[in-house]
Parts: sequence; C-alpha cells; structure tokens
Amino acid sequence: MSNKRDYYEVLGVKKNATKEEIKNTYRKLALQYHPDRNKSPGAEEKFKEISESYAVLSDDEKRKRYDTYGHVGAEEVFRGSEANFNEIFKDMGFGGVRDIFEQIFGGRGGFSGSSNDPFGFGFSFGGGRRKGRDIIYDAELSLEEILKGKKDEIDLPKLSNCDNCGGSGAAPGTKPRKCSVCNGQGQTRRVYSQNRFSTFVSLEPCQTCQGQGEIIDKPCSICDGSGKVKRNKNIKLEIPPGVQDGMTLQLRGEGEPSETGSPGDLLIRIHVKPHPRFERLEEGHLLYNLDLKFTELALGTEVRVPTLDGQEKLKIPQGTQPNTILKIKGKGLPRYGSYGKGDQLVRLNVKVPTLLNDTQKLLLKELDRAMQ
Ligand SMILES: [Zn+2]
Ligand SMILES: [Zn+2]
Repeated sequence: MSNKRDYYEVLGVKKNATKEEIKNTYRKLALQYHPDRNKSPGAEEKFKEISESYAVLSDDEKRKRYDTYGHVGAEEVFRGSEANFNEIFKDMGFGGVRDIFEQIFGGRGGFSGSSNDPFGFGFSFGGGRRKGRDIIYDAELSLEEILKGKKDEIDLPKLSNCDNCGGSGAAPGTKPRKCSVCNGQGQTRRVYSQNRFSTFVSLEPCQTCQGQGEIIDKPCSICDGSGKVKRNKNIKLEIPPGVQDGMTLQLRGEGEPSETGSPGDLLIRIHVKPHPRFERLEEGHLLYNLDLKFTELALGTEVRVPTLDGQEKLKIPQGTQPNTILKIKGKGLPRYGSYGKGDQLVRLNVKVPTLLNDTQKLLLKELDRAMQ
C-alpha cells in the first residue's frame, strides 16, 4: 500500500485544484479508461487508480485527511462514494458504480472471506450478495456450424451444494459455529504505522477460520467440510448462426452457485476453425479461390462451385480476365445480430500448365500464331 502513487499526480491536477476541476478531470479520464470502452491491457488498472484517487479527492473530509496523513486503507477510500460515482457514470452513459466495481474489483478478489464487502467500499455488491463464479467454456466451430448454428450438449464439472450436509460443510446433525476471532467477518483489520503521520489499515483473511467466518468442528465426510461437491451437469448449448471468432456468449445462471447470491454465468467463448476452402470476410461474405484454364476464361463456360452447403452453378462469361471476382448471392454466412446473409465471392485464377506434351505444345504454338 505504501507504494501507491500520489492521488493528485494520478489525476494530473494541482494540490489546490477545486472540486470542479477534479471532477472534470476524472470524467475525462474515466471516459478514456472505463473498462466498458477501453479493452487494452492496463486500462483496468489505470481505471482503478484514477477511481480511487477521485474517491478520496472528491470528498472534503477524505481529502483533508489524505493531505495531512497520506494514503489510508482501502476500506476508507470508497466508503460513502457510491452516489458520487453513480452520478458521473450515469451522466456518461455507463452503468452504475456497482456493476463496474463488482466487475473489476469483485469477482476475482484476493479475499475469499464471506464478507459482502471484501474491499471495504462501504457498500456491498448486488444488494448485499455475492454472485457465484463464472465458468468459461471454449467452443470451437467450423464455418459450416456457423452457417446453421450449433446445438451441443456438454458435461460441465460444476461445484454444487453437497446434499449430505446441505452445503454447510458440517456433518449432519451439527452446525458450523461463528468464528470468534473475526466475529464471523472472515477478515481481520491490521493497522500498520509507517511513521507518526501515516497509518495504513489493511484487511486480511482471518487466520483462524481461513477467511470463512465460521468454524466447522465436525466436517461432513462427503465434501470434507467444503460444503461443495463437483458434479457433472449436462448443459444444452444452442449457439446461434453467424457468431464470430472471439465472441463470448453468456448463459445466465449456469455458472457456479453462491452461498449468498445468484449463481455465476456460463461464458461460452467462440473460436472459429480455419476452413480449408473458404476464407471468412467482413459482413458474412466468404471468399473462394477457383482455378480455371486459360481456355475456359477465354471461351466462357459453366462450372460447379462448392459452397458451405452443397454446390452452385456459376457462369463464366466469355473473355473473363484473371482475378475477376464473381458473386454467388446469399451463399455466405448469416450476420450475427443483424439481418440477411453474406455472399460467396469467387476469385478466378488462371492455371498455367507446367508440363506440356508434344501435341499440346504444337497446338499452343499454332494458337499463339493465330492470335498475333
Ligand atoms: Zn475468523
Ligand atoms: Zn457435505
């Protein structure tokens, strides 16, 4: 905590900046680094840093304390700042402060305690409950599957509440008891003083109960006291047509359960396998390369071209030039979240023979003379 940067420096404002200046600067920076907008690495860290700075400097009392004593513990920083952030975020068209702070500070926090307010924001997430963990599932799809959509069944090893102890972790007939060291909070406060001007307060997981807030004297024999067992759960997936590589679909409530809140979500990450024949372009269009003989381009012909679901006839007009792109309408991929389908584009290449027999050579020479 002692290596934190100076809050004024983080926001880039002077020590005597007015509240209005601080607010305006924070708005500008938040617009730039808000995780809903800025996905670049480091943006989230930066957003945390500026938000922390703003939480302190926008509050007269906290600012005064900071000016006098330096950085305070994390649980002091955000206490009571919810309304202030909400106003700014709503104004800029972002979600409320709970959503974003839960997203960046919440789910993957360092404290595994049962406290609803693990980072001491002074307000708890999700109406006093913590959501269960999300489960990530990687789905690999071929272009054919993207064309039609994909139905799949997967077995996910999910943590669910142990039936034997009803999820409490205590052997049937017994109950967990509240940890007396942390008074059931799962964390203890430790006060560090750096020098006579500054003290840091840090929240640490309680050693006695390992951050659980309660102690189990007789653990359940099935789950070893964790209250959870891994069980395979069969989940039916329906991946809609037209999805793109890198997209994440969300199945609400199919993640891991939570003791105090709603279950997490199942996040399906889409990966698209490269196709041996087709290249996916923007807007659902597909590109197919077709090799033709010089004579076919010169004389014109009709060919059959493979598509993602069968074959299509394609007319090559007389005198078509190499690299011409012809279009087979509607034979591309559906557009996700939009209407219609892309086209299949066919690029015509000339195949030049590398080996010729005597007859072919003779005829080509004759043709060459005839075309002078
Ligand atoms: Zn404890
Ligand atoms: Zn159990």
